[in-house]
Amino acid sequence: MRIAILALQGAFIEHQKMLAQLGVESFEVRQAADWELPKDALIIPGGESTTMLKLLRELDLLQPIKQAIEDGLPVFGTCAGLILLAKHVEGDDKQRISTMDTTVCRNAYGRQLGSFFVESNLKGIDHAVPMTFIRAPYIDKVGSEVEILAEVNGHIVAAKQGNQLVTAFHPELNDDLSIHRMFVKMAESK
Ligand code: GLN
Repeated sequence: MRIAILALQGAFIEHQKMLAQLGVESFEVRQAADWELPKDALIIPGGESTTMLKLLRELDLLQPIKQAIEDGLPVFGTCAGLILLAKHVEGDDKQRISTMDTTVCRNAYGRQLGSFFVESNLKGIDHAVPMTFIRAPYIDKVGSEVEILAEVNGHIVAAKQGNQLVTAFHPELNDDLSIHRMFVKMAESK
């Protein structure tokens, strides 16, 4: 198992550390040549989705990544990653990776509530999961193929669609490995 981590910007090192604790090898994708390396899955970290999108375009990574996900590559997007994977973003019709049948609100909690922490349930995990939200989005609408995994304050904050897993919060910023473990299992069963 070898997982590619998009490392253009944002919290990618924290994902590497989580995977290392699970004994899973990973490598950073910083340019098109890195993307050619063999991989079993991809993580798209949190950060700033606008900046990441600009870099993905400039580096000619947007289309190859979109294609690989459409061809079944397991992908885990956190926060900005969730935004990049969404087919629709409220009030913004930019083309992103846009592979997941979700409509997302960006910076959805307003400036004051931009960052907060809760412990809450997530389908498939047998304990309350620590959830750190940083200027987070939430999922507003989902298509029929999307399975809702967690809701906080009445908003969808984790979901799965086939080979795609997303969280609006940052599991890599706490020490609970269960969501990364869930993703590795998902990747192993592909
Ligand atoms: N608000 C950010 C965006 O729109 C996402 C925040 C995050 O990844 N922590 O990209």
